[in-house]
Amino acid sequence: MKTVMKKRVILILATLLMVLSAGAKKGPKYVFYFIGDGMGTNQVMGAQYYLADVEGFYGIKKLGFTEFPYTGLVVTYSANSDVTDSSAAGTALASGQKTDNNVLGLLPDRKTPVETIAEMAHKKGVRVAIGTSVCIDHATPGSFYGHRPHRNNYHEIGTQLSESGFDFFGGADFHSPYTSDNSDEGNYVQAEKAGYTIARGYDDYKAKAAGSDKMLLLEKNPNSDHYLSYAIDRKEGELSLADITEAAIDFMMKDPKKGFFMMMEGGRIDQACHSNDPGAYVQEMFDFDKAIKVAYDFYLKHKKETLIVITADHETGALALTAGDYRTNMKVLQYQDMSKDAFTAMLEKKGREIGDILTWEEVEAELKQHFGFWDKVRLSQRQTDRLRNTYVETFGMGPGELKEGEYFQVSKLTDAAANVLTEAAQINFGVGCHSGSYVPVFAIGAGAEQFTGQMDNTEIPMKIKKLAGY
Ligand SMILES: [Zn+2]
Repeated sequence: MKTVMKKRVILILATLLMVLSAGAKKGPKYVFYFIGDGMGTNQVMGAQYYLADVEGFYGIKKLGFTEFPYTGLVVTYSANSDVTDSSAAGTALASGQKTDNNVLGLLPDRKTPVETIAEMAHKKGVRVAIGTSVCIDHATPGSFYGHRPHRNNYHEIGTQLSESGFDFFGGADFHSPYTSDNSDEGNYVQAEKAGYTIARGYDDYKAKAAGSDKMLLLEKNPNSDHYLSYAIDRKEGELSLADITEAAIDFMMKDPKKGFFMMMEGGRIDQACHSNDPGAYVQEMFDFDKAIKVAYDFYLKHKKETLIVITADHETGALALTAGDYRTNMKVLQYQDMSKDAFTAMLEKKGREIGDILTWEEVEAELKQHFGFWDKVRLSQRQTDRLRNTYVETFGMGPGELKEGEYFQVSKLTDAAANVLTEAAQINFGVGCHSGSYVPVFAIGAGAEQFTGQMDNTEIPMKIKKLAGY
């Protein structure tokens, strides 16, 4: 009789425990938040058309993240415009609050700070990582820890990075590490005083990670714009967003029981689209997908505890997937092997080296090699004339005139080349700025079903906060 009673009590207790634990359903312990800067729905679609076209069939070949089971559409307007900039959109995606364009982490009064989900997570003892392919104090990453009346207050945003107490930062560099009057010790010293170890490049990260409490991973030789190289230009050993994501996961998992919140920005999709650079844009899309793949591999090992959300802050370039002829021909973009920036710099360097104006034959050879013109990409007579005429107008005016605004002269030729390739691909960039189009959201993992339908950009961080319990 006694043993029967005992068994009954144990059974009741076990049932009670099951009911209790089911009631307190735990949200995701590991959260990845990927923001493709400038990644509208057509940026995603274009990358998929490109892949199919290269393989020789009509339709799309999916990216890794477009396989994710939950998708929705995101509305991006800011507090004072239908067309948002990156800081107002970043603030919305970080805090759930709309603000004016150019304002970072403050309400439209430019005084009242908003609380971001990264700050909420940090307060709860969750480990936090912020990464980007541009400078670490740029609008999107800055929106998660910075609070400044203008996004261009780079130095002050850099100071706020050190004050955040977050565990990991990864990006190309600080934009403005020192003030012109040296009024403080600079962003690097501030970071070190706040307990950050500064690593330069992925290998340096690996050497320093174990002995570091907090990490600031920067590029070894960042370019003068303080960005990582475009994927299309990246050389062996240069840092990528996938490297930063990998390092961030490694660093977060030094203390797995705390869980983590991680924001990773594909910051150069936007820049490639601002510059209407078709080849650089598609490669940035694949590069962003690669970084997400790193998170997806982590998800496969921690399925029940991981949430991955991918979205964008706005669309850039008003990218149209047609040139008006009921077809695209995106495969030609595979023959562009350097960005417009790199092509311009290369021509300038060549000109300086020979100390003279490049001949049309020399320029033609470069266009052939780096855009595939004539050999691999057939051009009409009008397109060839356009390139030749741009050369004559900008190069053929004599060395004295070339000195003034040399960059502009060369970039005019580069612009013409990129426009001709865009035409050949039968797509079109409508503008060199942002647009008010929808952006997509994709999600997988614990709570991912929340990210469907049409939602405002301010709803995304609130959903993450609720799910993760920040
Ligand atoms: Zn942006």
